[in-house]
This record gives sequence, structure tokens and C-alpha cells, in this order.
Amino acid sequence: MDAPRRVAIVGAGPAGLFTAAALLAQAGDDLAIDIFDRLPTPFGLLRYGVAPDHASIKSVATTLARVFEAPHVRFLGLVECGRDVTPTQLRDAYDAVVYAVGASDDRHLGIPGEDLPGSRSARQFVAWYSGHPDAEPQPLAGVRNAVVVGVGNVAVDVARILLKDPADLSATDMPDAVLAELRSAQVEHVWLVGRRGPEHAAFTTPELRELLDTPRIGVTLTGADPASIDLDALERHARANVAAIAAALAEPAIDPVRWLHLVFWHRPAELLGLGQVQGVLLEPTGPRPAYGGFVVPADLVLRSIGYRGVPLPGVPFDNGRIPNLEGRVLELDGSARPGEYAVGWVKRGPVGLIGSNKKDAAETAACVVEDFEFLPRRPLADLDSELAARGIRPSTLADWRRIDAAEIDRGAIRGRERTKIEAWHDLLDLVGNS
Ligand SMILES: Cc1cc2nc3c(=O)[nH]c(=O)nc-3n(C[C@H](O)[C@H](O)[C@H](O)COP(=O)(O)OP(=O)(O)OC[C@H]3O[C@@H](n4cnc5c(N)ncnc54)[C@H](O)[C@@H]3O)c2cc1C
Repeated sequence: MDAPRRVAIVGAGPAGLFTAAALLAQAGDDLAIDIFDRLPTPFGLLRYGVAPDHASIKSVATTLARVFEAPHVRFLGLVECGRDVTPTQLRDAYDAVVYAVGASDDRHLGIPGEDLPGSRSARQFVAWYSGHPDAEPQPLAGVRNAVVVGVGNVAVDVARILLKDPADLSATDMPDAVLAELRSAQVEHVWLVGRRGPEHAAFTTPELRELLDTPRIGVTLTGADPASIDLDALERHARANVAAIAAALAEPAIDPVRWLHLVFWHRPAELLGLGQVQGVLLEPTGPRPAYGGFVVPADLVLRSIGYRGVPLPGVPFDNGRIPNLEGRVLELDGSARPGEYAVGWVKRGPVGLIGSNKKDAAETAACVVEDFEFLPRRPLADLDSELAARGIRPSTLADWRRIDAAEIDRGAIRGRERTKIEAWHDLLDLVGNS
């Protein structure tokens, strides 16, 4: 009998783990799968993106983690493709390499003042409140007015976290320092700014409703009028979004302590301030703007206009994604690159929910299994020895379980299910790698 085919999956986020599960379902015992991640923790944005107060989605991790129980599946953490191992080394050591690295950068506004202190990305803000070890602190002292640019679900998440009573976040897994910062913050106004109308916004209705229903917030609307939108001409999701906004305006909160200001058909033209963001000039985007725009005060601006993929050295990259056909990686001229695959956000672009990656992973896994029919077997390099010779010791599943247990312990002391460990040195102590 032939030795099992060896597959490397680069990235242990939802797409990578769904791919491993799909490969096991489709080719079972004929495979040995190594799942690499630059972090010692699996789950990607499920751990470091999905909002801490969305515990039920977080529980998908339990399902995803089942792949690690299969006998020929290994987790190799603390190995970054492009830094610790190159795509060429992976190709030499595996029959198939699946890139599942997600989209770890974000898009910029490209307007004057964007680099002023106080102008940050929602991606960094999310990484901070999620306890990502690379996150920079996000001081909120002195922030009364925050402008969130974008009307997708990420924008809704960050607006909610800023507007929510911190006491309602104390049961989450947020790191202690994050909770302390949110508790001492005095945010009063959050503006959410969209280039087009509420009927075009990307946020989904349950997420929008949850934001609008945040206890003790007042809601205002500028730039759009739900009454003048032809609901019958809209798709169900757009209709529900407009209706949710109309309902929130019709039933104002009693005694609001914070405010959500929805602004549609406007875009930031300039961030204003001397040495620190102090305001945002919003200009109208409609077909015949009647005026030049207006300024909203802002001590913090979070741009939330989309994530962006980061290229891997030597791997084709175009428009924020790895070019591919149903998951098979293509050269920029459209020719094939046998043995290399893409899945998840780096395959499709940064859109879609956790569940979207399952179908996507099944498609990529099917290509891998199909190609094994005709891809010739070749001698494979021993990557374990190469890494060891260079002093790189990948973290293991047992290391992740130690981190997991330590987070649960930290949480238990505080009466919470889990408290994230956010510092690299603490994570590495648990890996035994420091
Ligand atoms: C802020 C935010 C909130 C979200 N909330 C929800 C939600 O509530 N519900 C929902 O269904 N979906 C949500 N999503 C969408 C969901 O997170 C994505 O669909 C999903 O995570 C994409 O999976 P992925 O595996 O392609 O990428 P990722 O989850 O980003 O995983 C990529 C993995 O690759 C690793 N990696 C990156 N580069 C390298 C490298 N060079 N070498 C080795 N490893 C590497 C990363 O560490 C990471 O573990 C949210 C997304 C964001 C950004």
C-alpha cells in the first residue's frame, strides 16, 4: 500500500480547519495533514475577530477542533509561512499545500489626516478587544466622540462594543486590561457613516437590530429618510434593515446615556485636527448634493472599510487574493500551479460568515483529492528535521490545550467562562518556548 499523501494547510482559521475536516471526510485514512499557524492558538478570526459578546458563534470552535482528534492530523503553531518556512519548502515537503491564511490587513481611506493620532483601523481595535497577541493597546481616555467609517458587520461590532455598558461585557472572554479600559472610557457619541443608503448597507439585520437595541442608547439618523425609501423594491434583507432603523427611531429610548448617530450617503473627505484627530469632514455622496458637507467632532476614528489579504512570498497574488479556480491556485497568466490550493478569505476575498467557509472548504478539498488521482508521487523533504535544524520548535496541540486550560482557569477566578491571555510572553511560557 502507498504511504498516505501529505497535505500542509497554512492557517488554522475556520477555512483551514473546515478544509482538514472535508479532506478527512473525502479521503480519510489516505492522508496525513499538518495544519500550520503563526500563532500557538487555532481558530483564526473565530477567536480573534468574532465579537466577545457573541458567545454562541464562538462555540463553533468546539466543532472545528474535532479535526485534531483524527490520528494523522497535527497542529504546528508558531510557524509563519514567509518567515519560518517558505512556500517552496512546503511544496518540497508535501504533496499538496493549501493556503488558508485569511486577510490580515485592512483597507485605508486615502484621505488627508488619515495618519493623525486617534485615527485607527477597526481591525486593530477588534484585535485589541479580542486579546490578539500582536494587538496594540487602544487607549480610550478622553474619547467622547467616536466615528466609525463603514456600515458592515465589523463596523456594527465595534460601535456596539463602544456603546455597550461595560458591565454587560464583564462576562465575556475579553482580557482584563481591555475590560478595565472600556470601564474607564467615557464614550458618549458614536457616528456610523455609510457612503450609500441604509438599503445598501452590508450589515445583516440581526447584528443591526442588536446594535439599535443596545440598552439606554439614543439613535439619530442623518442623510436618509426611511419613509421615502420604496420598501417593495428592495430585497428582504435590505427591507428588514430599513424597517429596523425606522422602528428604532419610532421608539426612542427613555433616558439615553449614549448616542448612536447613523449617517448615510456621506463619506469622510478629511480627518481634521492638530496633532490629534478632532473632527471628520463628511461630504455628501448622493447624485446632486445640496451642500458641501458637515463636520462631526471625533476623538477617535475607526475605519472599517474592509480587510485585505497579504501576499505570501512566491505565491501569486492579485487584488487581495490568491488567484484560483475553485481553489486550485493559478499563475497570474491563468496557467496552473499543480499541488497548490487556496481556501477561505484568501481565496474568495474578505467576505462571508464562518459557515461560508465550510462550503468553500469542501470545494477546495475536492480539488485536492481529485488531483491526487493523477499527481505523480515524488520524494518529499523532511520538514520536521529542517525546522529542528534551524532551532524552530513548532507548538503543538498539547501546548494549545495548556493555553486553553489556563484561560479557563483565569476566567474561573473571575466568575467567567474564560479570560483571554493576550501577552506573547504568557502564551510562550505556556508553550514552554520562552
Ligand atoms: C471583526 C470580524 C468579526 C466577525 N464576526 C463574525 C460573526 O460574528 N459571525 C460569523 O459567522 N463570521 C464572522 N466573521 C467572519 C469570519 O471570521 C470569517 O469568515 C473567517 O474567519 C474567515 O476564515 P479564514 O480561515 O479564511 O481566515 P482567518 O479566520 O483569518 O484565519 C487565518 C489563519 O491563518 C493564520 N495565518 C495568517 N497568515 C499566516 C502565515 N503567513 N503563516 C501561518 N499562518 C498564518 C492566522 O493566524 C489565522 O489563524 C467576522 C470577521 C471579522 C473580521
